[in-house]
Amino acid sequence: MSTQKLATNALHAGHDVKANGGARAVPIYQTTSYVFNDADHAANLFSLAELGFIYTRLNNPTNQILQERLAAIEGGIGAVVFASGTAAISTGLLTLLKAGDHIVASSSLYGGTYNLLSVTLPRLGITTTFVDASNPDNFADAVQENTRAFFVESLGNPKLDVLDLEAIAVHSKAAEVPFIVDNTVATPALLNPLKHGANIVIHSLTKYIGGQGNSLGGAIIDGGTFNWANGKFPEFTEPSAGYHGLKYYETLGAASYTFKLILEGLRDFGGAISPTNAFNIIQGLETLSVRIKQHSENALELAKWLEQQEEVAWVNYPGLESSKYNALSKKYLPKGQSGIVTFGAKGGFEAAKTISNETQVFSLLANIGDTKSLIIHPSSTTHQQLDEAQQESAGVTSDLIRLSVGIEDIEDLKADLKSAFAKI
Ligand SMILES: *Cc1c(COP(=O)(O)O)cnc(C)c1O
Repeated sequence: MSTQKLATNALHAGHDVKANGGARAVPIYQTTSYVFNDADHAANLFSLAELGFIYTRLNNPTNQILQERLAAIEGGIGAVVFASGTAAISTGLLTLLKAGDHIVASSSLYGGTYNLLSVTLPRLGITTTFVDASNPDNFADAVQENTRAFFVESLGNPKLDVLDLEAIAVHSKAAEVPFIVDNTVATPALLNPLKHGANIVIHSLTKYIGGQGNSLGGAIIDGGTFNWANGKFPEFTEPSAGYHGLKYYETLGAASYTFKLILEGLRDFGGAISPTNAFNIIQGLETLSVRIKQHSENALELAKWLEQQEEVAWVNYPGLESSKYNALSKKYLPKGQSGIVTFGAKGGFEAAKTISNETQVFSLLANIGDTKSLIIHPSSTTHQQLDEAQQESAGVTSDLIRLSVGIEDIEDLKADLKSAFAKI
């Protein structure tokens, strides 16, 4: 494992310059497949007697560099990249779980993930109990005999709740199930969940890590700390019918989940990232540490400024003294609280809709984590199909505006919102 710091790893980890023709930049290996030396070589690769590239759905040299970089900066033993954050989450869970299994999850989740857990996975016999994560004991209370995972977001999107990961990890350990943390909004530059008891970390690389709104991607980073031989995961200890009778845990030990994600997850579900998107995301990752500082600085200053505007009813940002997550934020996000800010328009639904329509620098769209500032009024857009009670439980009130604060000059961002306020 690398002993270097994040800013260094983000630029160098995983890229052996000499093995890549001296190329200083990471090359794009735009190929689907790899020539075998001979049939025996191929047989060795397929049986894992030798490790190497076979087919880009399973791995690719560009993707591999991104994987090694992400593992280094999150402090994991391995990582696997996917076509999107959603592909990472669905493949990650389907590689781990089977019909009859149960998840305990925070109720404050990205909308797509909430839908996967509440509607789609139950159709396959995998159920979820959603809990209020502000009380970690709720996780213990929701554990059933068939519980096989805890799932949370370290910094919830869009509720911006900071979770007490260490307190939740006590309960995942007691229940002997892996603790999975979606760390997309916090980013590894601000928080490393593996250091606070998580076993598995997930990212939508589409957001801050890619950082420039040009490519979808996702990743799973394996801490290598979970004991798959505890009797609850026979797919890891019994011979795998899907892989020549391979016994994952006996053969691969701590790296069992990483390999299963490739050998079964990518092979059977196919959510591979294109090498060109992996390259684009690597360009973003290389500057993550400097960008996230500016995002966090701008977001905090804008949140404080919003608190003073007469058109604003309330402001939610974990870095604000007024935030009920401020104490947890000081513990888990001391270097910055990332770039998402939510606030309520005093005039309610119509005023919020007007503000989101009238900004010029902030773009009205459904994404976060771009260098450019973004705005959305969820109640009239992403969440408009939900009734008021459903919106409320997703943390979306009709007056709520979500900002993804970019790295433009802060004075221009204030002026843009000020002129939109004037249109109410
Ligand atoms: C966007 C997002 C996802 C989904 O990622 P995609 O790359 O859009 O598939 C998952 N979790 C969180 C917290 C997100 O913000």
